[in-house]
Amino acid sequence: MTLKNFQSALMRNLSELKELLSSPKKIVITTHHKPDADALGSSLALWGYLRKKGHQVKVVTPTDYPSFLNWMHGQDEVIIFNKDKEHEELSAKLTKEADVIFCLDFSALNRINEFGELVRQSEAIKVLIDHHLEPEHFAVFEFSDTNAAATAVLVYKIIVGMGDKEYLDTCIGECLYAGIMTDTGSFRHANTNREVHLIIAELLGLAVDITKIHRLIYDNNAESKLRFLGYVLLNELHVLAGYNTAYISVNAEELKRFGSKTGDTEGFVNFALSVEGVVFAALIIERDDAVKLSFRSKGEFSVSEFARKHFAGGGHLNASGGKSDRNLEDTIKKFVECLPEYKEELLKEYKTEKQKC
Ligand code: 5GP
Ligand code: MN
Repeated sequence: MTLKNFQSALMRNLSELKELLSSPKKIVITTHHKPDADALGSSLALWGYLRKKGHQVKVVTPTDYPSFLNWMHGQDEVIIFNKDKEHEELSAKLTKEADVIFCLDFSALNRINEFGELVRQSEAIKVLIDHHLEPEHFAVFEFSDTNAAATAVLVYKIIVGMGDKEYLDTCIGECLYAGIMTDTGSFRHANTNREVHLIIAELLGLAVDITKIHRLIYDNNAESKLRFLGYVLLNELHVLAGYNTAYISVNAEELKRFGSKTGDTEGFVNFALSVEGVVFAALIIERDDAVKLSFRSKGEFSVSEFARKHFAGGGHLNASGGKSDRNLEDTIKKFVECLPEYKEELLKEYKTEKQKC
């Protein structure tokens, strides 16, 4: 959908959403597996806004989130579905009784694991707010804009579009800022457009402390995480120069040895992408339930298509993910065997990238 189409759809749907929210409602906000700063930030920003409007609102996440997000306003009230039996039952109760369920920063219900079935079965009115490619059509209200830099951008536009700009405050602004900052790679990815900077200017007007947020997210590494990164770059970074591709693989023993926690491997894939000449990078990790893959690219090479075609995943043009039910070794083998199909494209991409400079 083009931005123009989205804006007219937004105007049409927003008045209906505004009407729906014109009396107090029971609301659940949920977001994707292992929430990142955009997922949790956009959810908590919406939570802050809807609470101020007098609704009964809870944020339910399917899993835990990285500790570098535990400063966000409202995060201590988040219900983590898979934490224990009690949280699971509470999540189920809230979902069943909800009038409205907001689904943020994911495009298909399988991205929220078993919690997805509860959301699907709930009779609540579902509202999707998202920027991933190819949304599954499960919601009554679909605010999906694949050109949007972050879901936080959409949450901002929806609040302002409903005529509620005065409800924005520093706490809401900081959650939105974190989402936009991280999804744009600190305002350097191709999704960083004029709109992003205009919104950021508005957030600065709310006294959002951008230095603090940057420090809390990026300069807050546990020593063990940095040592793990050092180990991985030395031992597990593989450059396939013939395909302008690099990958990092991490096995379960390594995760355990370095005491790796949720979020500790976030950003590793960017080091593989930063290798000179590399336009396609992967991070392949042996998790408990499956082997998880993260993909990044430069330029036109679509890692979203690659993830969808070969690893049951999806995402954005330059950032995507997927999984494999093979073991780590076989998954790596499969990944490498996929590359010849894209050789020409990958080699061309680097040439184009150089010419652009
Ligand atoms: P990350 O590599 O940071 O986990 O994810 C990069 C992007 O791909 C994010 O937008 C994320 O939502 C999406 N993504 C990651 N894993 C999967 C997956 O297994 N399936 C789908 N559809 N999207 C994914
Ligand atoms: Mn996002």
